[in-house]
Amino acid sequence: MDPLFAKLDLKTTCRALADLLMPRLCIVCGRPLNMREEHICLGCEMDFPYTRFWESTHNAMADEFNSRIVVPEGVRERYCYAAALFFYNSQSNYRNIARELKYNFRIAQGKVFARRLGDALAGAEHFADVDAVVPVPLHWTRRWKRGYNQAEVIAREVAEALGAPLRTDILSKPRRRSSQVRSNAQARAGISGAFKADVPEGIRHILLVDDTFTTGSTLAACHAALRQCVPGDVRISAATLAFVRNR
Ligand SMILES: [Zn+2]
Repeated sequence: MDPLFAKLDLKTTCRALADLLMPRLCIVCGRPLNMREEHICLGCEMDFPYTRFWESTHNAMADEFNSRIVVPEGVRERYCYAAALFFYNSQSNYRNIARELKYNFRIAQGKVFARRLGDALAGAEHFADVDAVVPVPLHWTRRWKRGYNQAEVIAREVAEALGAPLRTDILSKPRRRSSQVRSNAQARAGISGAFKADVPEGIRHILLVDDTFTTGSTLAACHAALRQCVPGDVRISAATLAFVRNR
């Protein structure tokens, strides 16, 4: 037998046949993937726009997140940590990674990139003591329509990588709000009011997780709801798959 065929196991053969019938495409550039590639082609992988934000406590995302935070009177808020896996801007096809997870049920694919985020955070000392991974909640009607919460898909992988519990019981979104609110001040006040927090005793470091960091107003609103329940010495950090640049 040809040694090439001897090496092909059943899984590889099935994949080759499936690829012939329905080629798997790179999530970023849309080119057909070869047998060794999963979700993303080698070229796009080589250019993957990692932020490396997790390597430093102070970075562009953390600065922006901190600038958005409204601190209640009498609370001494420490500088909050924040990190995203990759950058994208309006011209970049890397935005497909977050978009496909959010709108097109590409959950398995989303999990792969979420796991990368989790592994990156797990290698950073300042995220080592996270003891609650909390996804940004969706209002139940939106979750019901979509069938899942993309932030929860990401948070589950991050929690597993960090060895910390996933807590979907801490934050909820009882009120539905328009996702397009024009004024920043309105957005902050309005969205803050949409979230409700209930934090059990003993938690010291909460990691908020969302799919994309655009203006930071959603995460800041979640932070505000959490901060109403916990004193300033409970740390609240944030992590997202993507960080939008040049907006
Ligand atoms: Zn590609």
